[in-house]
Amino acid sequence: MPKKLKKPDLKRIRITDELFGQYAGRIGEKILDYQWKILTDELEGSEPTYCIENFRIAAGEKQGERKGVVFQDTDLYKWLESVAFSIAGGMAGDFEEKADRVIELIAKAQESDGYLNTYFQINAPERKWKNLAEGHELYTAGHMMEAAAAYYVITGKEKILEVAKKNADLICRVFGKGEGQVHGYPGHEEVEVGLIKLYRVTGEKKYLEQARYFIDERGTEPNYLRQEIERNGQPEFFPEFKNYDLEYSQSHKPPREQSEAVGHAVRDMYMCSAMADLAEEYEDKELETACVRIWNNMTKRRMYITGGIGSSGFRERFTTDYDLPNASGYCETCASIGLMMFGQRMASLTGKASYYDEVERALYNTVLAGINIEGNRYFYVNPLEVVPEFCTEHTAMQHVKAVRQKWFSVACCPPNIARTLASLGQYIYALGEDALYIHQFISSTISTSIGSAEIVLEMNSDLLDTGRVDIKAAVSGKETSLMIRIPGFSESGNVRVDESELDVKVSDGYIRLELSEGTHSIELKFDTAPKWFAANNNVREDAGKMALMKGPLVYCLEEEDNGDHLSEIYVEQSTEVKAEKPDERLAGKLPVLKYKGYRVKSVGVENNELYGEVKFRKEETELRAVPYSQWNNRSDGEMLVWQKAVV
Ligand SMILES: [Zn+2]
Repeated sequence: MPKKLKKPDLKRIRITDELFGQYAGRIGEKILDYQWKILTDELEGSEPTYCIENFRIAAGEKQGERKGVVFQDTDLYKWLESVAFSIAGGMAGDFEEKADRVIELIAKAQESDGYLNTYFQINAPERKWKNLAEGHELYTAGHMMEAAAAYYVITGKEKILEVAKKNADLICRVFGKGEGQVHGYPGHEEVEVGLIKLYRVTGEKKYLEQARYFIDERGTEPNYLRQEIERNGQPEFFPEFKNYDLEYSQSHKPPREQSEAVGHAVRDMYMCSAMADLAEEYEDKELETACVRIWNNMTKRRMYITGGIGSSGFRERFTTDYDLPNASGYCETCASIGLMMFGQRMASLTGKASYYDEVERALYNTVLAGINIEGNRYFYVNPLEVVPEFCTEHTAMQHVKAVRQKWFSVACCPPNIARTLASLGQYIYALGEDALYIHQFISSTISTSIGSAEIVLEMNSDLLDTGRVDIKAAVSGKETSLMIRIPGFSESGNVRVDESELDVKVSDGYIRLELSEGTHSIELKFDTAPKWFAANNNVREDAGKMALMKGPLVYCLEEEDNGDHLSEIYVEQSTEVKAEKPDERLAGKLPVLKYKGYRVKSVGVENNELYGEVKFRKEETELRAVPYSQWNNRSDGEMLVWQKAVV
């Protein structure tokens, strides 16, 4: 099994999918513009972010105090990365020109030694590199490096790459084991992923080695972060860090010794993504084994059925095995994006397609739920059960917003969704040494070379409705192969190539199709009949409850279709679920699922009483479920994924 899958050239991929095409189309049409106005404080009725303003001050174009959260610069970097991917997708419009101008500004803001961070440059130059636990300097640098690598690869323009290299060179000088160097590492991982991308673009080995240093130094004794926190005394940015525990930033022990998904979920996913990259680059088996252990702990014990992770609103973190509360769950959109990043790398590292089952779960459910169909409202937190009137201040659900928001004061998620959707092609296809890999069944076209073979492929997917996927492939120059992932949700299925049924042999989750020169038609049929799922008995929250899925999509009940008090609903486990025609107000023409259920109401308690003698009445009701990712697009109200079962 050849490992080391390469990412495809996004310029040669076009998304034509009914569902994802609608979101991807919004990027150039709306999302980049909307986010640009937010970053430049030009959006009417929206709180200023000061993002570009801060760069102007750092560049000496303006005077003033630097405002916004300490890592505000990252919003611009992620936006820039989204522009790069959108240029590749041919949907950036005039944003390339805006991006070029903003790159000039970023370059102007950079100090002569390579330092770049508007907070510390303007507000606290004497505090540079002194508060790694809270300051997010390396995290911010990592996002700049990711943006730079993408922008350079796609446009060929070197300006931002030069900025990133200069900054990375400085980081390589400042941090390390040498005398006079800071023996520290980031309080929020991300620079590792950025450095590795920079290495892959420039071939500069020291960037890769620096990323390895950060991973290997983390959590060693004497513990750098513990000592730094003691040195600094009081928290500087986040009062809640007063009782900082090292597990929060995965620095309680070296990453290669870790076995569980712990601490702040986004931090953990960015760290694990870097670990998987390093395991691949250095063929480091120990690191690979640690990645597998963490992945298994996360996906088998600490992940929601929607691919949401980080179940606690308290510090956005993983808690303990099977602790998956539905209403108060956190499930930050960025954390599921991080899961996608980690899973993609694990598939490349191990050659196993099954990692993409969870990438798919996160993408189709939590990540897509993070944005509305219009492309201008966002969820940061993605619980599986919402009663809007309980999501208020001073409740356990105060972190939950029952309605997507225009923006956030900590706005990591919206630009993260934008860059993910704008680069969707990298999750659909990958390039092996002798095969084109298909990991997701999202309608699209790709043209690419595999060795000396050229392949032009068109995929038309009806996965989410009938489960059928049609692929046309034109091969020239030499014969080649397709490696097609067989999704974990499909218990049966068949494959036809050029009209003849194939005896399917699945190896590491893939089927391999040898394609001779010429044109081929491939027909895949997966089982996407609606199915009810139960949780492991240890998930007390879901005891006696069922969740409905169709293919990779989790479905939910919304007040819009079913009235309020969704918690009164019971469903027989044998109930027949029918796929019916889509609701035109939702994206992607996805079927609506209908089935019978019951409402169990108490009629023994009078209106102005809180408790009374039991007297229940059971009423039959027709229920209508829609994809979880689409909830809160038609109206505000209650939402429920896990429904009580009648056994
Ligand atoms: Zn976020």
